[in-house]
Amino acid sequence: MHPSFDTDYFIVGSGFGGSVSALRLAEKGYRVTVAEQGRRFNPADMPASTWDVRRFLWLPALACRGFFALRLFKHMLVLHGNAVGGGSITYANTLLVPNASVWQHGTWAGLRPWGNIMPAHYQRAEAMLGVTTNPILADADHTLQRLATAAGVGNSFYSTRVGVYFGANDEHTHPPHNGDPYFNGSGPPRQPCTACGGCMVGCRYRAKNTLDYNYLYLAERQGAQVLAQSRVTRIAPLGAAQDGSSGWRITVKPFRQPEQHYTAAHVIVSAGSLGTQKLLFAMKQQGYLPRLSAALGRNVFTNAESLIGIRFPGCSEDFSRGIAIGSGIHLADGTHIEATRFPAGSDIASLLGTLMNHSRHGRLRLHQWLAAFIHGWLTRPRRMWQALRPKNMARESLILLCMQTAPQPLNMVWRRRWYWPFAPMLATEGAAIPAYIPAASDFAFQAAQAQQGSAFTCVADVFLNIPATAHCMGGAALAATPEYGVCDAQHRVFGYQNLYIIDGANISANLGVNPSLTIAALAEAAISAIPAKESRHDPAQSPASPV
Ligand SMILES: Cc1cc2nc3c(=O)[nH]c(=O)nc-3n(C[C@H](O)[C@H](O)[C@H](O)COP(=O)(O)OP(=O)(O)OC[C@H]3O[C@@H](n4cnc5c(N)ncnc54)[C@H](O)[C@@H]3O)c2cc1C
Ligand code: SF4
Repeated sequence: MHPSFDTDYFIVGSGFGGSVSALRLAEKGYRVTVAEQGRRFNPADMPASTWDVRRFLWLPALACRGFFALRLFKHMLVLHGNAVGGGSITYANTLLVPNASVWQHGTWAGLRPWGNIMPAHYQRAEAMLGVTTNPILADADHTLQRLATAAGVGNSFYSTRVGVYFGANDEHTHPPHNGDPYFNGSGPPRQPCTACGGCMVGCRYRAKNTLDYNYLYLAERQGAQVLAQSRVTRIAPLGAAQDGSSGWRITVKPFRQPEQHYTAAHVIVSAGSLGTQKLLFAMKQQGYLPRLSAALGRNVFTNAESLIGIRFPGCSEDFSRGIAIGSGIHLADGTHIEATRFPAGSDIASLLGTLMNHSRHGRLRLHQWLAAFIHGWLTRPRRMWQALRPKNMARESLILLCMQTAPQPLNMVWRRRWYWPFAPMLATEGAAIPAYIPAASDFAFQAAQAQQGSAFTCVADVFLNIPATAHCMGGAALAATPEYGVCDAQHRVFGYQNLYIIDGANISANLGVNPSLTIAALAEAAISAIPAKESRHDPAQSPASPV
């Protein structure tokens, strides 16, 4: 390792891939620097509700530097997180192990004996993230269970496996030491969940096991340096070979400060599926990383999700109580539905919802929706107002996150769009993703009719005929050769040395379940293959400094 590098490993992004890598490398004695474009949030900084858009939304052009980002593509509306701790700050805590068969599909099939390797890494990630079975079943969960029973699938009901601290009886906890129930006093103090429903708006009670309470917290204690509000704009190889064998030069743009430059022996790109693809496409086009595989951007997966719901105006239940995703069911065709919620008062999501029209005819659905909408206002104006008004939306609505395992990968490309001809940007290509899931819509529509409720769906579904997804994965697949993927089985980027991608971009098949636990487990597997640093360095004495 060249002693004059500012750092041994420079990590771009502090989400699941970045935080796991940071801790495990710091434990192996390496100097680690993490650059994160988002802010660092403490419980007191969290938005009181989703109406506090400046703290909630990530929209830097409009001075909103929150943690929840939306990105519209031709084929989908992507929801993702930007903060120290990545998507974990806004995610819904659900940490599920996918069916073992996912390792037999996609470009990663056969690369490693995944079936033997991964269970230990899942277990390690589960312990670190404090995964336990949700003990708090609230109104939304009881209602989902009742509706599932009525639909004949009641026995598929389950309490979710989540990364939340509920108290002393959780799995992976110990008697709290210095208030820390997970890491024998090495971790931060925690408080049990209050079932406020606010997980996706940021936990204000130190109960949600976000990465800044485990992997990233411990990495910083081991000497890793985290640069918040610092966006990486360039990654360029040093030396004549231009392949990374002489190390890397990384350009960082801190918020409201001039650019800074770092040198590193290794770079790990962990900017999340969209962030990683955006950065690497830009580097390829600008000539800094011309050898990147042509497979960059291929095989981008979603869980074929659909966000729908049922509103029960004036109901006595409070659907905002509980944790963000408290339970789930499986319909007869395999469709996976989770009972999801926002906290009371966080009704801004209502602006993304509209009445479900319950049609199966794609393009016609807009007309049918319009007809139903006008008919509704003419015949039942009071009911329409109650169903669509923002006030009490979170409290009165059972929100259903529906997922399918159908493999429908898209491709991301880097090109200029007619509406923004000044610079290229990410764009999607491929067959349309079904904007709605018939079995799930049937379920919601019938439940709404039986219980005097109103079924609703996302506006992107009706007006644009595209789904909204919080699970955009892939684009830098693991594969045997650069023809099929961007990295090898150890996450090393083909064509370069000392350059890795470790994040959701590596997901190489449709998981069918929420992806974060798999991203963390894959990161554990990737870093476990890197040997410890030979002469252990005291990281506290020389944090990386810009040149
Ligand atoms: C509302 C919501 C709910 C969700 N619920 C769940 C759930 O219950 N369970 C689940 O498994 N998943 C859930 N997800 C998805 C989950 O958040 C992501 O799959 C996961 O965070 C991806 O991890 P990652 O390591 O790939 O990257 P991320 O966690 O996305 O982290 C990438 C980080 O890199 C940063 N970054 C990007 N570009 C740059 C750059 N150029 N320079 C510096 N930093 C950069 C970003 O700001 C971000 O913080 C949810 C997502 C959302 C939005
Ligand atoms: S329900 Fe409330 S207290 Fe519990 S983890 Fe979520 S935000 Fe934190």
